[in-house]
Amino acid sequence: MSVSLRKYPYPYQAMLAICSDLDETPNKEIYFETARYLNTTEETLLGKGVGLEVGNTIYFEMPEHNFSYTNTDDDGRKKIQKLIQSGHIDCLHSFGDFVNDRAKIEQYWSEIRQGERKIEVWVDHAQAPTNLDNDIMQGQGAESGKAPYHSDLTVKTGALPFIWKGRVTSCVAQNAKRSYRALFNKKQIKASLKTITLEFVKGWLARLGNQKYAMHQANKVLRKTQLIDGTPVLEFLRCNPSWGGVSMFDSARGIHQVLTKSVLDALVANAGCSIFYSHLGKIFTEEEPFQEKTRQAFELLASFTHNNQILVTTTRRLLGYLRASEELCFTTKETTSHVHIYITTIASEGDLQGLTWNIPSDKEPVLWVNDEIYTNITKNTYDENGVQSVSIPWLDLQFPNIN
Ligand SMILES: [Zn+2]
Repeated sequence: MSVSLRKYPYPYQAMLAICSDLDETPNKEIYFETARYLNTTEETLLGKGVGLEVGNTIYFEMPEHNFSYTNTDDDGRKKIQKLIQSGHIDCLHSFGDFVNDRAKIEQYWSEIRQGERKIEVWVDHAQAPTNLDNDIMQGQGAESGKAPYHSDLTVKTGALPFIWKGRVTSCVAQNAKRSYRALFNKKQIKASLKTITLEFVKGWLARLGNQKYAMHQANKVLRKTQLIDGTPVLEFLRCNPSWGGVSMFDSARGIHQVLTKSVLDALVANAGCSIFYSHLGKIFTEEEPFQEKTRQAFELLASFTHNNQILVTTTRRLLGYLRASEELCFTTKETTSHVHIYITTIASEGDLQGLTWNIPSDKEPVLWVNDEIYTNITKNTYDENGVQSVSIPWLDLQFPNIN
């Protein structure tokens, strides 16, 4: 057999990130306890943690009772900085509702970039003036000459390569054939058929030349595009595979309708990857933020990870992995005893993590990265098809102590 790149890190068959916008998170306790619940196996306010790898978003000036960098206290800000450094706050969710001038943008931009690890993902929020999309999301962040213009500082410099501009699909499993089956709900036939029809129509509109739904039709997480001022970006697509449509069950109060066995089975069966669109700060009550059904949904997801089916990671890491694997060029050379894999890449070491090549079982692998031997590799045990592979190990993020 010849050498080939696996779609996902060994031994997983699919990948998923939960990309939660922090809208309406009522206080700092719930913001940080949610992170602990998702990323550790400790007892938390939301229940016993599920030990996944899930990031979060952050923004600045917001109305009262909305957790944000400026609405919280010094202790909250210290913890935010810690979680940016550990990779668990990985997306900037605009600069916030009330940020509308350059001085504040520059101040907040440097505020979140003090540490070694930087936020590299931007997610447009509601109607925030600094949004980068001027169409669906009505922002002016990329309109040169306007007060909230900032893409010259934040995007053109290369600091924010990954941008979300408002696009959500109903289909689970991107980077795979479009599949509607998981949307069908036999208890909600009429509503679920409406959602399926709507998604189907978007695909046809795109085929007829409609630009708004081009990403839905292509069904790929990433596409190369540009902002209004011409700045090249990688735009990403999120999904909310809810039978009620993309704007239903997009919060903690509805995620049990989305993280279901049929949705997760479809993700695996299609060998897809998905970035889920949600708002985990929109909780049930401050006393019991998640209900039993919410916990069961996250435990179900964790069981797919423990069964080596779905690798769950942060939005930033999933995007970095996809970019690295899509841009990767490699050549190989086989000797009687060894198989040499040569890659040339500009990706960071972190983004190369998880890359896996299937190799002939009788050969020892040697990996070359940019003309140097890369010693940190793992030869994997045979997979379910009896195929041997070699990986750059995928290392979990370490959740910091924020108590
Ligand atoms: Zn938002």
